Amino acid sequence: MFDTIAAISSPLGTGAISVVRIDGPKSHDIAKKLVKISNVDYRRVYHAFMEFEGQIVDEVNIVFYKSPNSYTGNDLVEIYGHGGILVTRKVLEAVLKSGARLAERGEFTKRAFLNGKISLVQAESIYQIIEAKSEISLKLSFENLKGKLSEEIENYRSRLLNILAEIEVSIDYPDDMEVDFDNIFNLLSKIDQELSLKIENSKKALTLNKGIVMAIVGKPNSGKSTLLNKLLEEDRAIVTDIPGTTRDVIKGEIDINGIHFVIVDTAGIRETDDVVESIGIQKSIKELEKADIVLFVLDSTTGFTKEDEYIFEKVKKLNYIPVWNKCDIGNNFNKEFKDAVKISALTGESFRSLESMILSKVSDIIESGESSHVITQRQLEVLERVKRNVESAIFNLKSGYEVDVVSIDIRKALEELDVLIGKRFSDDLLDTIFSNFCVGK
Ligand code: GDP
Repeated sequence: MFDTIAAISSPLGTGAISVVRIDGPKSHDIAKKLVKISNVDYRRVYHAFMEFEGQIVDEVNIVFYKSPNSYTGNDLVEIYGHGGILVTRKVLEAVLKSGARLAERGEFTKRAFLNGKISLVQAESIYQIIEAKSEISLKLSFENLKGKLSEEIENYRSRLLNILAEIEVSIDYPDDMEVDFDNIFNLLSKIDQELSLKIENSKKALTLNKGIVMAIVGKPNSGKSTLLNKLLEEDRAIVTDIPGTTRDVIKGEIDINGIHFVIVDTAGIRETDDVVESIGIQKSIKELEKADIVLFVLDSTTGFTKEDEYIFEKVKKLNYIPVWNKCDIGNNFNKEFKDAVKISALTGESFRSLESMILSKVSDIIESGESSHVITQRQLEVLERVKRNVESAIFNLKSGYEVDVVSIDIRKALEELDVLIGKRFSDDLLDTIFSNFCVGK
């Protein structure tokens, strides 16, 4: 079923060690020939000089894995060489010339999935681990990799299968078996409730995974840029420019206590008659409304002004924190924000209080990281389809439709659960998922 593939599995560049992987039926033969070892113990490290066409290719350590006890589930070899760019390419070249083909992106992990070593959810979590930019994303991804989510999905599956069995027996033997509608209704409602909670928490977990979006808003000169720069400086900025549609508004990413925040700039919100400017302002307001949390910066040298009032009209419906800035030189704290946190973006004064306030404002999102979740958009969408089918089953049951109508809904819900976990998949779906991976993974 599988051919033999190979790839450099470490990043291309100069490093201490590089890794070349070979997977498939010919992997052991190819490697044994290159390192001149005939009998191998599996999972043991051998030291050898690799030779090809009479030339030394590299000095390597090499490990042979026997199917099914490998990352992919196939016979697999890992070769650890000196980490130079040229030398690593030479190792790969020797392997390819000996009969392997260059692997596609994510092909090793795809093989692990196709061999049933991991579910699709686990494969996706491997990608998430590699991509994780914060400790919380890592934690969420490891939870899924350990298989907790897959187990939960299996649990929903078996409960729905039981319900289906009960319904179908009654369809096949209508005279002998009567359906206990109340019981089925209760069982389905319980599943529906659990799915609601799971979806709600998963949405938060998805936010955590992508980064909590924090907007900084305030009138000109209130100190927004200074605050942003100080936050980036204090909380180790991770990236300051991410490709994507929102590129022009994203200003930076920070970690506060292992929680990932994406900071967006929504500058320029003010009253205007200028048509062109007002289009820009509308865009800023949209960004603001999408934010999970808003820092509303007030200037303590001017106090709360008309300009602030205009911005406050937009901010007050959102999850916002008022912040008095420039407290090193001002003390004009008026209006209802008298008790708001008082900082100096210039000196960093009271930043710890500001940060703990930020964390507590998004505590519901953070708490969602405590259990297992679906953490990709694909997974969430499939889970929502599962729920829709369960809801439809409940509705049809209540409306007194024939039980076979209900059984169709349950079957559809089961099919979606299979899509979620990868028991059912299309080549297109696999291509989409694994093409995000790097070559060699
Ligand atoms: P923005 O227009 O809201 O982005 O404001 P800026 O960050 O550009 O700041 C406007 C001016 O206020 C600059 O000269 C900053 O140095 C100054 N500034 C900002 N924050 C503070 C602060 O906490 N204390 C003092 N003394 N000056 C500040």
